[in-house]
Amino acid sequence: MVNFKDFNFAGQKAIVRVDFNVPLNEKGEITDDTRIRGALPTLKKILEDGGSLIVMSHMGKPKGKVNPKLSLGQIANAVAAKLDVPVKFAPDCAKAKEAADALKPGEVLLLENLRFYPEEEGKPVGVDKEDPAYSVAKKEMKTRQELFAKTLASYADVYVNDAFGTAHRRHASTAVIADYFDADHKMLGLLMEKEVVAIDNVLKNAQHPFTAIIGGSKVSSKLAVIKNLLDKVDNLIIGGGMGFTFIKAQGGHIGDSLHEDDLMPEALSVMAAAKEKGVNLSLSVQTIAGDKFENDANRQAVDIFNIPDGWEGMDAGEKSLENWKKIILSSKTILWNGPVGVFEFENFAHGTGEIAKYVAEATKNGAYSLVGGGDSVAAVNKFGLADQVSYVSTGGGAMLEAIEGKVLPGVAAIKGE
Ligand code: AMP
Repeated sequence: MVNFKDFNFAGQKAIVRVDFNVPLNEKGEITDDTRIRGALPTLKKILEDGGSLIVMSHMGKPKGKVNPKLSLGQIANAVAAKLDVPVKFAPDCAKAKEAADALKPGEVLLLENLRFYPEEEGKPVGVDKEDPAYSVAKKEMKTRQELFAKTLASYADVYVNDAFGTAHRRHASTAVIADYFDADHKMLGLLMEKEVVAIDNVLKNAQHPFTAIIGGSKVSSKLAVIKNLLDKVDNLIIGGGMGFTFIKAQGGHIGDSLHEDDLMPEALSVMAAAKEKGVNLSLSVQTIAGDKFENDANRQAVDIFNIPDGWEGMDAGEKSLENWKKIILSSKTILWNGPVGVFEFENFAHGTGEIAKYVAEATKNGAYSLVGGGDSVAAVNKFGLADQVSYVSTGGGAMLEAIEGKVLPGVAAIKGE
């Protein structure tokens, strides 16, 4: 595999998959340009080398149909302003060969939203999964997806994937296209490389003690993550809403707290597996309960095994935080995914804010910390600590799948794993 930093793009046409799935207001103006800023180092290096750029992305979920509200044409000027060069726009991704051929070094062509084409995601449209015709339609769509990827590939000499947020999908632009470039002409962009290194730092090269903090609402959404981590971590902190299933499974009285009865056997088997593998599984011992699921609920600190009826655990109590602080501050590698309380409510955000502080402090003391998954990223941002952890991952779903131990198709297509 070639290293992006070492590649000289002079005279080369590069087709770069970025994640420009930015939020827009009703006027079509960008309300948060983080994702565009994230791709700039990769795009700028190619232009500065003397290469030309074909930039492609999806936006929203148009489901294979043209939807003017999700046209990338709306953001062409904003991208041009950030790159400081004019940006041409190709309104038809499948018919942009002429425009791509005409590009001179230093010029940029932005393709329309890839997901206006059903071929991008490769899912058959208008056929139900239960329909016997589905498997035929799926095969046909696969061929169409390959053709679409081949067309995109024909625009350029080099393929760069810098869209970590979609790396867990085998789409035309994220993985299939890589088949049309040889190993010396496809590579991960700078943002993608950083994400992959960050995940490798915790999953493959972790310094011990390694602590994972898993919070959030449901066990069901993170069971695979928890199971994979049991083979890697020394400490596993389980907090937030998902912790109550573990407490109830042990016979605790959890009042009206969030829980999933059907997952209680799984919770017990996770506890048994942790014991067998010598992992210190640290559950909450005390919660701040509220008498309704609202910010202005009455609050009381209660023992996690004795939450009164009519009350639900909504934040981590001081006794839990004391335990977790000790574990986090003595760690050399920290992975954090998911808040330990309903941090969107100011009155129940304390515990999550404390965890963010401990992770920042451990990082200052030399630990490597990776924070990822939508809500934990929102939490470190909320507490202004994003620049005090080692790495904040941009891809929620992709990061979770990587921690589950799955190979990401977007990375595998380039690395050939
Ligand atoms: P997830 O998307 O699974 O990471 O879950 C994040 C959500 O979990 C956030 O919206 C939190 O408000 C929610 N959450 C965390 N702790 C609790 C709790 N004790 N009860 C209810 N929801 C919670």
